[in-house]
Amino acid sequence: MTTHATVKTVKKLHNIIIDLLFPPACVGCDNFGPWLCDDCLKNIGAPIETCIFCNEKTLHGLTCGDCRKHNSLTGIISIGGYKNPVLRNSIHALKFSGVRDIAEPLGDLLAKSILKTLGSDLNGFSIIPMPLHKKRERERGFNQSALLADRISSLLSIPVANLLIREKATTPQASLNSKMLDLRQENIADAFIINPEYTAIMPKKIIILDDVATSGSTLNEATKLLGEKGVKEIWGAVVCRG
Ligand SMILES: [Zn+2]
Ligand SMILES: [Zn+2]
Repeated sequence: MTTHATVKTVKKLHNIIIDLLFPPACVGCDNFGPWLCDDCLKNIGAPIETCIFCNEKTLHGLTCGDCRKHNSLTGIISIGGYKNPVLRNSIHALKFSGVRDIAEPLGDLLAKSILKTLGSDLNGFSIIPMPLHKKRERERGFNQSALLADRISSLLSIPVANLLIREKATTPQASLNSKMLDLRQENIADAFIINPEYTAIMPKKIIILDDVATSGSTLNEATKLLGEKGVKEIWGAVVCRG
């Protein structure tokens, strides 16, 4: 047996042992099988269609006219709300238990929401995964938003552009009180820069992909930077809204 074949066999054996010790089970109902079973997929909720900044009901989660005066985000597309236990468990599995495979069914659902909101003509759009600070990405071993972006990119044939770099290692927004908007805005202020590789070629329309959005501060900070570069249409797309 060649060394390459031996490594492959050992890896396969390792996966079999892991599956025996920790068989995949649905994150919603604990039944063995896919990470998200058909029953739980049916109970995953519906997109939240309000302005992220003031909670006013709007079509497709557009930013309302008043909030648009101070924010560049066009609107926010979601699968559902963070209160939905299936969605919440999915995010936990992806981010904290390292279940990367769950990015596939979540990406499929988010792609459906994107199509419902923006229609099938997605010409001119690019997807930007919300970047992690390189230290956090190293600790986690991956960027959950990049996994979702890759899945959606291949489903909808939209290119991924790593336009943003996270320069500042911020406190996770989720650990800050969601009512204290000032604190969240201050925490995330100037956290990003534009990737110098892209400064000359800005896409016209952008979908920024993130796992969760609560106050919209992180998305808006990223959006501000892209708006200053002349990008006109900037959507957020998240698995769930807090
Ligand atoms: Zn289930
Ligand atoms: Zn508003």
